[in-house]
Amino acid sequence: MRPFVYDQSAIRVIFGVGVLDRLAEEVQRLPAKRALVLTTPGQSGLAEDAAGRLGKLAAGVYAKAVMHVPIETARAARDEAKRLEADCCVAVGGGSTIGLAKAIALESGLPIVAVPTTYAGSEMTPIYGVTEGGLKKTGRDRKVLPRTVIYDPALTVSLPPKMSGPSGMNALAHCVEALYAEDGNPIVTLMAAEGIRVLGTSLPVVVREPANVEIRADALYGAWLAGAALAATRMSIHHKVCHTLGGAFNLPHAQVHSVILPHAVAFNQEAAGDAMRLASQALGVKDAAQGVYDLAVRLGAPTALEDIGMPLDGLDRAAKLATESPYPNPRPIDYASVRQLLENAYHGIRPV
Ligand code: NAD
Repeated sequence: MRPFVYDQSAIRVIFGVGVLDRLAEEVQRLPAKRALVLTTPGQSGLAEDAAGRLGKLAAGVYAKAVMHVPIETARAARDEAKRLEADCCVAVGGGSTIGLAKAIALESGLPIVAVPTTYAGSEMTPIYGVTEGGLKKTGRDRKVLPRTVIYDPALTVSLPPKMSGPSGMNALAHCVEALYAEDGNPIVTLMAAEGIRVLGTSLPVVVREPANVEIRADALYGAWLAGAALAATRMSIHHKVCHTLGGAFNLPHAQVHSVILPHAVAFNQEAAGDAMRLASQALGVKDAAQGVYDLAVRLGAPTALEDIGMPLDGLDRAAKLATESPYPNPRPIDYASVRQLLENAYHGIRPV
């Protein structure tokens, strides 16, 4: 076994159907008395419900989170937290909502209680991102790591199948890249392989039976493992390409992950043979790249960049941006091979 460093995050996790009931207790436990409840406009009802459960512990609701945390949104939310004299943030929603809480915490140090309602995994990571002038600046800071995460599968039942599938593929991508991360370790490998197994079996049922809370619990458990694996490792070519496409072409986050993952796996298949064997075993397939592609098809998740708004004449620029300052990757990165990866992903070709 090679030597390794495992910098384990300390997060209190409450998991189970109905555990949102414990929200007030968990806010008091921080300890905090004036929670600012954050969410997206589409989930304002859920935030109001959370504020109702908090009673006197709720300082207010701010339902203006948007994808990729524009700096204007971050500034307005920071001002609102100050105005209300909030002493913690309760983020009820997906990665966009949790991202907004992190933007507040980055400046103020306010503790976060995260209540995730998608499978993106941000709740487990110290990674933040703020978008300014069309560029998303990301970084790691322990200040933004949620102190408590409340995983209540009942809150994911409303996530529509067309969002559940891609969001699950986003989680799967964290697990796959953790298996071949340069700073991986045996504990993260356990979590990542279990994440792939449980996501691979639960997600097809989730999209078929969205109201099945038992299977939603399995998928959310997989998403938790995926977030923990993402937090502990540096990601590679897959995440680099997705960040490039999301940032420069404003493509939807989870859908980009769904399209790119089979091609990133094919790209690294030979260079990361051990990781790919683990991934294919966990998925119960012969070939990891084809297995991931087939899963996306089964989920009804996007498989082609041309279907999610990518302009064909943007592929050259995307390949240039993705190779200029590459993330570490098992297979060396060069323009021509990444351009080919993008071409295959553009047309949604099944990896061979
Ligand atoms: P999202 O938070 O933008 O949510 C997508 C849409 O689904 C929103 O309209 C939201 O209101 C709605 N929604 C969320 N949960 C719902 C539910 N249960 N029922 C009904 N509707 C629901 O999407 P996301 O994919 O979760 O997050 C994407 C963002 O998170 C990106 O900005 C990405 O960069 C970031 N992210 C960050 C990390 C990290 O570690 N920092 C990790 C993953 C993703």
